[in-house]
Amino acid sequence: MTNKKKTMFIKTAFIVMCFFALLCLAINLNGTKETIKYNTASNDSEISTANDSVVIRHGSRERKELALTFDDGPDPTETNKILDILKKYNVKATFFVIGKNIELDSASVKRASDEGHEIGNHTYDHSDISKLSDKQIKEQILKCEELIVSVTGKKPSIFRPPYGSYNKGNISKIAEENGYKIVLWGGVDALDWKNPPAQEISNSIINNVINGDIILLHDYKTENTLKALDTIIPQLLEKGYKFKTISELLED
Ligand SMILES: [Zn+2]
Repeated sequence: MTNKKKTMFIKTAFIVMCFFALLCLAINLNGTKETIKYNTASNDSEISTANDSVVIRHGSRERKELALTFDDGPDPTETNKILDILKKYNVKATFFVIGKNIELDSASVKRASDEGHEIGNHTYDHSDISKLSDKQIKEQILKCEELIVSVTGKKPSIFRPPYGSYNKGNISKIAEENGYKIVLWGGVDALDWKNPPAQEISNSIINNVINGDIILLHDYKTENTLKALDTIIPQLLEKGYKFKTISELLED
């Protein structure tokens, strides 16, 4: 190899490496959707999986009950398709809706509520609230609440922070003062928002679920979740699980 060729080779290799580094960075940045972000100042007890009076991660481990939760909607197409599947199996679920999306599609939120599903608050615009001031957090919650109430006539009592991001000192207090419990999820996270094959989503849930689990799914740009649901629900019903809304799951 001549020196000129060597230089060309090194330059090309460098460009290819830079390209892959950027690609990896992009994938990583994209991979943050609903992964729980714990407060960096937290101690070990904060990353425990126990419930406390405000933060809920699961229902009773004694009863064969589960809660399906769908985040980030409503979406005029997907939310309605999910509602059709839930209706087919006569099971109830919980939708953590984004205020901004209600402005675009209030009909499916109304339908969900009318058909007995629970509507939870998921902020107005899906901001990471750990980066907001107390005033801004309250605004996010109340703005979404106002939209939910205007559509369903019911005040929501459960709040799920985007990315599962919460700060015990402030968010819990603001939630409590405004009549909310913070609902995270537990056990399995099928990462359905990355739209993996339907079978991957259904297997990870069916094979790993335990009593009282709150199952995190999405009804926004997650086509394979729809296909997976048609397997998850009948198979878990077959195993004897009952599907509850979050409020039902938390009843004594
Ligand atoms: Zn979300």
